[in-house]
Amino acid sequence: MKIVVLKFGGTSVGSIDRIKKVTKIIISYLKKKYKVIVVSSAISGETNRLAKLTKQISNNFPSSEYDSIVSTGEQISCALIAGRLNHLGYLSRSWLGWQIPIFTTGNYSNSRIYSINKKKILQFLKQGGVPIITGFQGINSQNRITTIGRGGSDASAIMVAKFFSAKRCVIYTDVNGVYTTDPKIVPNAKKIKKISYEEMLEMASLGAKVMQPNSIQDARLNRIDIEVRNSFKNISGSLITKRKNVSKKNIIRGVSFTKNDAKVTLIGVKDSPGVAAAIFEPLFKNSINVDMVVQNISSNKKETDLTFTIKNEDLTKTKKLIKVNKKIRFKKIVTDENVSKVSIIGVGMITTPGVTFRMFNALAKKNINIQVISTSEIKISVLVKQQNLKKAVDVLHKEFKLDY
Ligand code: ADP
Ligand code: ASP
Ligand code: MG
Repeated sequence: MKIVVLKFGGTSVGSIDRIKKVTKIIISYLKKKYKVIVVSSAISGETNRLAKLTKQISNNFPSSEYDSIVSTGEQISCALIAGRLNHLGYLSRSWLGWQIPIFTTGNYSNSRIYSINKKKILQFLKQGGVPIITGFQGINSQNRITTIGRGGSDASAIMVAKFFSAKRCVIYTDVNGVYTTDPKIVPNAKKIKKISYEEMLEMASLGAKVMQPNSIQDARLNRIDIEVRNSFKNISGSLITKRKNVSKKNIIRGVSFTKNDAKVTLIGVKDSPGVAAAIFEPLFKNSINVDMVVQNISSNKKETDLTFTIKNEDLTKTKKLIKVNKKIRFKKIVTDENVSKVSIIGVGMITTPGVTFRMFNALAKKNINIQVISTSEIKISVLVKQQNLKKAVDVLHKEFKLDY
């Protein structure tokens, strides 16, 4: 069977007109003799609306019930797509995660798909039907509904492509593909024809919203090529693929950024072995992700200043946990919510010297102060004042010749 998996994001199913447009795309693949499996997100804004309802009920809403609620948006969009296909004379029906079932493991709201029962879907495909599968959801070993992290329909599509050995997996979204940076913020951003899994994973983890990071890990592990295309325009998109298929011409493939960071500095921390672990242990236990870290030894060598970044939404909880932590002593805690992280990403930096210098120099020339730095083999991230964010992205985009 020549199977294609088509995933439609929230904006692509954002209105009745758009849903009608989506069914036209589906039919175009049927005409090319593909067996089509559709995975859809909820109508854009719906998942946020549902999440807000839970907050109005309780600040401590049970995570199992949270998943039960936020997963319902996909039921609507999938049934509408199936309904429209029926209207046009095609055999189609919607499937919720539990009806297939799609099995997940891990915590509520952040589960991972590990298995999909293929039987019913294969039967339906053989009858000539178009199954429309809800993204973002599955069930766990207790038979309860789970969700797989915000933006998770991408990962649903990749896992469906894996289990059904699809020939193609196409992610339909509201931009023409993966760009060198967010095209909605930087008009000079350029579409990338081919990008490696590794680079896409870093770009996504560092703020590029276009693909959910877990989905890229799943695609990489299972060697699934992903096409990213615009659902509103019939033009070529981007391919996310193995490193060896990708051009080595560019040192830097893209620039990513985040806006929701917060910086915490502990001044005058008593410096002794284990102090950093004592600071971070309660954060880890409360699922607070610490991102960048920098530690300075003070001149008297007895005290240190420790700076780290977290997500904005975790700041209040982090301050509380630090203040009640009896294992650490410090003079003062200073926090800053007006910071942003800018990153350059590219496998080319492994073999090209001087990338760090070029990045820092370009920022310095624009008078942009770097507050914290973190690096990996294929990325360099810096923390800057939020007001400098756009300027920093623009100058780095230009410096690494991504404008052309
Ligand atoms: P969907 O609802 O289709 O899943 P998302 O909103 O999750 O779509 O992702 C698409 C958005 O990602 C685009 O509208 C774009 O603004 C944003 N984006 C951020 N960085 C990039 C990038 N490097 N390339 C393409 N899009 C990006
Ligand atoms: N509807 C879910 C969300 O908004 C999943 C997705 O869109 O991929 O996060
Ligand atoms: Mg998305």
